[in-house]
Amino acid sequence: MTRNMNRRRSDNGAKISSNDDTRSLIEASQRLAAEVSRMFAPETDIVDRHYWIEAMMNHIPDYIYAKDLQGRFLIANQATVTENGFRHMHEIVGKSDHDIHSPENARLFQAAERRVIETGEPMFGIEERNVLSTQERWLMTSKLPLRDKRGKTIGIVGVSRDITDRKRSERLLLGQARLLEMIAKGTPLAEFFKELILMIEAQLPGIIGSVLLLSEDRRHLLTGAAPGLDDAYCAAIHGAAIGPKAGSCGTAAFRGEPVIVTDILADPLWEDHRALVEPFGYRSCWSTPIRSYHGEVLGTFALYSRTVGSPTADQNELTSMAAHLAGIAIEQRRSEERIQFMAHHDALTGLPNRVLFDERIAAALKQARLAGQWVALAFLDLDNFKLINDSLGHSAGDELLRIMAARMLACVRKSDMVVRVGGDEFIILLNRLPPDSDIVLSRLEDIREAIGAPLTLSGRSLQVSCSMGVVCYPDHGETAGELLANADSAMYGAKEMGRNNLQLFNSEMAAGAREKLLRHAELRDALARNEFVLHYQPQMSLKTGRIFAAESLIRWQHPQRGLVPPGDFIPLAEETGLIVPIGDWVLNAACRQNKAWQDAGLPPIVISVNVSARQLRERNWVARVAEVLEESGLEARYLELELTESLIMQDVTMAIATMHELAALGVKLAIDDFGTGYSSLSALKSFPVERLKIDRSFVQDIPGNADDRAITAAIISLAQKLQMQVIAEGVETQEQVDFLAASGCDDIQGYFVSRPVAAAALVNLLV
Ligand code: C2E
Ligand code: MG
Ligand code: MG
Repeated sequence: MTRNMNRRRSDNGAKISSNDDTRSLIEASQRLAAEVSRMFAPETDIVDRHYWIEAMMNHIPDYIYAKDLQGRFLIANQATVTENGFRHMHEIVGKSDHDIHSPENARLFQAAERRVIETGEPMFGIEERNVLSTQERWLMTSKLPLRDKRGKTIGIVGVSRDITDRKRSERLLLGQARLLEMIAKGTPLAEFFKELILMIEAQLPGIIGSVLLLSEDRRHLLTGAAPGLDDAYCAAIHGAAIGPKAGSCGTAAFRGEPVIVTDILADPLWEDHRALVEPFGYRSCWSTPIRSYHGEVLGTFALYSRTVGSPTADQNELTSMAAHLAGIAIEQRRSEERIQFMAHHDALTGLPNRVLFDERIAAALKQARLAGQWVALAFLDLDNFKLINDSLGHSAGDELLRIMAARMLACVRKSDMVVRVGGDEFIILLNRLPPDSDIVLSRLEDIREAIGAPLTLSGRSLQVSCSMGVVCYPDHGETAGELLANADSAMYGAKEMGRNNLQLFNSEMAAGAREKLLRHAELRDALARNEFVLHYQPQMSLKTGRIFAAESLIRWQHPQRGLVPPGDFIPLAEETGLIVPIGDWVLNAACRQNKAWQDAGLPPIVISVNVSARQLRERNWVARVAEVLEESGLEARYLELELTESLIMQDVTMAIATMHELAALGVKLAIDDFGTGYSSLSALKSFPVERLKIDRSFVQDIPGNADDRAITAAIISLAQKLQMQVIAEGVETQEQVDFLAASGCDDIQGYFVSRPVAAAALVNLLV
């Protein structure tokens, strides 16, 4: 029998569920077929049997019936009678499916029964769909041949079980899974909502779903999807304001809670929209807010019906499930959009970033080429931004950047682009320009003017200026890379012109850029060829007259140009980053030299080494210093590092942290060129610094210049108060020495003592 059954299943191809339902149904139908056959056997006590079977059948919630060869009911249990709209069995006996069901369903049922009769083979566990009025029902049915005692088929016996609920939840789970998959795959929201509504509508015949989304101002509802609602109705409610009396959805969004309107034509909530909805015949509307994870209302999910009424528990459950899924989808989309936005924009100003610029620039150039137009690219740098940032604090700096970003944006057109590429650096891309540099420059001048307008920041009024380097496509470059490099050169030119300046790229700059490239290569080769040398300038104590230290100063022994002073190549080395390996070389050479002097038996001195900002920013620089000391064998206390004030002020927090690490090594620290930068006196206290070096510019005009005298004396007393040593640089004359000694200056360095000299010459000064 089991083998037979399996064969049947595959033969008729009917969809069979292999769960308990099927098994118990099969057993019940087999028992019943046997019983009914026996009932018709002449030797059976018909009255007893009949009573017994009838009682049994009528207590079973499954549908049990027997039909003759023409498909007319011979017998049916109470469940079948009631289900088909009758009260007593005799009312159904003699009727066929054509008398009860829709022609389509009747045909389907009869076809199955005919097959059983013709083949004499039973059918087990077929799923049958039956639409009764508007309600969809699913039955799991088994049908067996009804035979007389000679084995002749005289009809069928059928047993059906209502599996509508199971079927519905199966479909719901499948639908949910499909919808979640759509969310995961990033399906467009409109498409997702449509699918969601269709799934709900399939569960609830006669019900129409809609999704409305809250507008950006959070005061209106916009159509998200409503495939079953009339287009004209959707158009009419699109953009409707939410409020305490704004139909079902408008009120639900406003209140943030479900709103059940059982009769649209009678409910006061619909009073203002009644005329609008009436022609479409919608009578009830139940709406639920769609919420974000944090509970914020994002829109509404609503069910409409053309009949008056309130939702069943099932319908409520489906609505909240749908609203929940819609919420997940909207949030997911928003976070995707946020991620996309963050990847392409600067978080502080909201301006596009370099990534987006790189994505767009090629298209902008192509479009300009086709249209015969120009594209202008300006590199813009705020002048002295670092100073403002350090003196007013980072949050004021951030605010300033936001204000400047807004000012720039206000000056450009929608098709243009303002890009933040770094701290205070921006690129302005102007599109669709006529080929006329005057027009380009006047538009950029407007931006410069806007930036220069006064503003108040942290209660202080100030004015910011900017420098711009400008290039125009196609005159100054064919590709984005070329244009940017040239804009950079133009910007350099603008800065050299004294800031607050706008420079259009020109051929001299092109030559300048080329020259710079050559010089960079030459400098790199100089390092490889070991063309650098160190000279040493002694430092003398005013109290003892003893030389206790020397500053190492780099020179370039150029094969053609002779001895090149550092001012001629250090700035380029700093700009190009070559200062890092060059600085390494200096540190190494100076430490080794000092150790060599000590090993030669000379009185030990401290060696000073100048440090650039780029070096200090190197991540492992402190470790590098420790390594050099280790390798050279020089004790840390014989090495002094000179940091300039402006270097420290570029990033005070970082500089202080690094200074402490260096001090922990035992290395001495000095502030070079003191007085020319913008040290905040309060910050100075926290520097682990031993010496201030008064800049040469103050020393050179003393004692003649009263201002310089005052400044020098002030620096000396400041150093004393902070318990730091103070040394004057660039001391050339006896008068300067006298003034400095009288003011309490500790030490001096300058031509008065000695010019910087080669290592061999310094030895003479030490002994
Ligand atoms: P600095 O560190 O302030 O060095 C002092 C400069 O003043 C030296 O110029 C020195 O020759 C000069 N000088 C010293 N005494 C007198 C004087 O009495 N009168 C006059 N008129 N000048 C005097 P130099 O050697 O040309 O160095 C210039 C700058 O180059 C240095 O200024 C320093 O900032 C930088 N530099 C030199 N060597 C290095 C180095 O190895 N690494 C780094 N990063 N920078 C260096
Ligand atoms: Mg120095
Ligand atoms: Mg100096």
